[in-house]
Amino acid sequence: MPNYILALDQGTTSSRAILFDRAGRITAAAQQEFPQLYPQPGWVEHDPEAIWQTQLEVARAVLAKQNLTAADIAAIGITNQRETTVVWERATGRPIFNAIVWQDRRTAGLCDRLKAEGFDKTIREKTGLVTDAYFSGTKVAWLLDNVPGARERAERGELAFGTIDSFLMWRLTGGRLHITDVSNASRTMLYDIHKNWWSTTMLKRLNIPQAILPQVVPSSMIYGETDPALFGGAIPLAGMAGDQQAATFGQACYMPGLAKNTYGTGCFMLMNTGGEAVESKNNLLTTIGWKLGESATQYALEGSVFIAGAVVQWLRDELKLITSAAESEPLARSAADAGGVYVVPAFVGLGAPYWDSYARGTIVGLTRGSGRAHIVRAALESIAYQTRDVLEAMRADSGLTLQTLRVDGGATGNDFLLQFQADILGVPVQRPAVTETTALGTAYLAGLATGFWSSLDEIARQWAIEKTFEPQMPADRRDSLYAGWKRAVERAKAWAE
Ligand code: ADP
Repeated sequence: MPNYILALDQGTTSSRAILFDRAGRITAAAQQEFPQLYPQPGWVEHDPEAIWQTQLEVARAVLAKQNLTAADIAAIGITNQRETTVVWERATGRPIFNAIVWQDRRTAGLCDRLKAEGFDKTIREKTGLVTDAYFSGTKVAWLLDNVPGARERAERGELAFGTIDSFLMWRLTGGRLHITDVSNASRTMLYDIHKNWWSTTMLKRLNIPQAILPQVVPSSMIYGETDPALFGGAIPLAGMAGDQQAATFGQACYMPGLAKNTYGTGCFMLMNTGGEAVESKNNLLTTIGWKLGESATQYALEGSVFIAGAVVQWLRDELKLITSAAESEPLARSAADAGGVYVVPAFVGLGAPYWDSYARGTIVGLTRGSGRAHIVRAALESIAYQTRDVLEAMRADSGLTLQTLRVDGGATGNDFLLQFQADILGVPVQRPAVTETTALGTAYLAGLATGFWSSLDEIARQWAIEKTFEPQMPADRRDSLYAGWKRAVERAKAWAE
């Protein structure tokens, strides 16, 4: 009887493998970084072979650490950096070019043209996305236009496109499966999230042949098994979802209105909207959450904030106000409040809900008495204010009231931040016992499909709170602080020319 689920978490900077037991606890983990390639300003690439090699090695390492064989693993689940695009040869499995990473801006010009045509409305309607180089569709178009012979070969059916989930699935099965799950498909800008099929309108406009596309499958089902040569025996492949959707699943946000926020470099908040794809009127993305086997597709609203934990790195590395991220907490606590100071970390513009590429960072409200502690505190507070901005947009779009916010990611180790977050939202903030929610989410997807876990109820019961932060701030104080933030944001907008 196999006792473990293996989660493969293929991220932007590293590949990780985490082994979970039946109680949803981490048994072992391994991680390897791989190179980031910057061939031109604004371009970001990965070598798909480096992605594959590191992912395979960490998977093998984690089994070796625990002296396990393929027979000990009930199933594998995959979760991945989203939108990153690979095109490979069907005959050999060889990529025709490096992977174009989600951060890559090379197709911004094409996106500007689509917007100028008014095609952005069609894109939002069909795919739920804003028209941006972030998503895969224009990256595929770029590859077909720029790699010699690619378009003809694609039309002849010789090439395969996939996001990282598809590419790993292809490699893990020795080329037997060319599939992607609904959550990853919903980030390609080629998928009709309402009809649940590839959008012919999008394919036609971006001139992408149907023959290149993977088959779209649920996020949880037995897809097949690994090539026995890889792990000394075949292992069922049974779960697949994009990283933020997997984290939402790992946080057991199974009911409409439940939301999680991940505080890493940036912040990604997703709110479950159930079977309804809620069209955003407040600049959020409408996205597919997951689909379990034959059950109905579940949707989410998503808000992305570009700079969150990264503002703490900036305090440490550029301003040198602190020597470690953790030091921000006692320093912030040493001041009774931010003394009227606001830091707006719009270093790369502002994401949701403002989407202002021309905003730039600013510090306002400085007086003769403002010190290091005030600035550090204001920087931490900016993470919480930005989260409230996204949450306000979600409330407005969904009409759902948030009962609690579930949090994860590196910056959630900061108790000051989470208490201030609860205060500024007026909503309790819950930090779970297992904060590796991305890997846990795909482990759950794979474990549900194989009967390792019996139901959503069973895994929802495993989700345990380590600490809850209850709002303590009086409402008038919360309102006046937040009003100050909104004024500070106005000062940051439309700054760069
Ligand atoms: P990512 O997955 O985006 O690399 P992580 O989830 O690993 O991010 O979180 C790392 C981020 O969290 C960094 O930006 C770091 O500055 C921030 N961080 C880590 N510890 C703390 C802390 N105690 N207080 C505030 N921010 C922190």
